[in-house]
Amino acid sequence: EAKAAGRATFRFFDPGMQAAVDAATRLEADLRQALAARQFALHYQPVVDADGSLVGVEALIRWHHPQHGLVSPAAFIGQAEKAGLIVAIGDWVLEEACAQLAAWAAHPAAARLSVAVNVSAGQFHGSGFVDRVRAILERSGADPRLLKFELTESMLLHDAEDMAGRIGALRACGIGFALDDFGTGYSSLNYLRRLPLDQLKIDQSFVRDMLASPSAAGIVQAIVHLADSLGLDLVAEGVESAEQWRHLRDLGCERFQGFLFAAPMPAAELMHRYHLGAAVRAA
Ligand code: C2E
Ligand code: MG
Ligand code: MG
Ligand code: MG
Repeated sequence: EAKAAGRATFRFFDPGMQAAVDAATRLEADLRQALAARQFALHYQPVVDADGSLVGVEALIRWHHPQHGLVSPAAFIGQAEKAGLIVAIGDWVLEEACAQLAAWAAHPAAARLSVAVNVSAGQFHGSGFVDRVRAILERSGADPRLLKFELTESMLLHDAEDMAGRIGALRACGIGFALDDFGTGYSSLNYLRRLPLDQLKIDQSFVRDMLASPSAAGIVQAIVHLADSLGLDLVAEGVESAEQWRHLRDLGCERFQGFLFAAPMPAAELMHRYHLGAAVRAA
């Protein structure tokens, strides 16, 4: 009995565990502060066609932490979900992306760029999401047909009817839907039949491995066929070399994103590099 209690006590005071809890608590406090102090920014990564011409961008959040510098979303989105902060952060991302869309509408060269926004599970399934999206769109004046939401396969484990309902309501506003990191998650192919989607994004791990691994190349080929027969657009993510790009085009892929073309960058830099006009608003 004493032994069990001792073990329990020991586990409770495990310094490693305590350190992890402290770190999570600190991160959560920092995230709250980040929202209040406007430390987040959006960077935009080009999506190009088979000629390398810009067809759209993906908005990716960046955190300018006062002590740690630029913090990657991989390091805080998960904790933001756990702490229930993802709704506030997600709303900020959407407001920022819509403001950018509305600003681009004034530039002929930028007016048709689509913007893809990553939406995480806690945000999408949270109450009032559809209404808040509508309100943000309306306030910003952005064209919903240029807005796309990227969902991940893990979200599909949620109540399929509720998912389809939310996607349907937002699609009725004009918003497009992409399934991100496709091929790595849990999705049954049956979901693809039931959910009204517009686009699949091939996960970058397949692109990374396809030149060396026939099975990775085979999966890419299968996803190209799948997208084709379901009438979905397809984007290959993580394209880093001209050889990968050529191979992807040979397999029938038509949209590409990756460091070969450009890394994510602030809006002003994107406008400058792609001759989209002078930046009209600060990022
Ligand atoms: P993702 O949506 O799959 O975004 C693509 C990630 O791949 C981005 O990382 C991008 O910078 C990176 N990437 C682009 N091209 C290449 C390439 O050629 N090679 C390699 N190795 N990587 C490339 P990032 O910006 O660090 O974002 C990581 C993830 O964090 C995103 O993955 C997305 O799941 C999440 N995320 C980013 N921004 C947001 C956001 O605003 N809201 C939510 N909920 N999640 C976000
Ligand atoms: Mg994405
Ligand atoms: Mg992805
Ligand atoms: Mg990813």
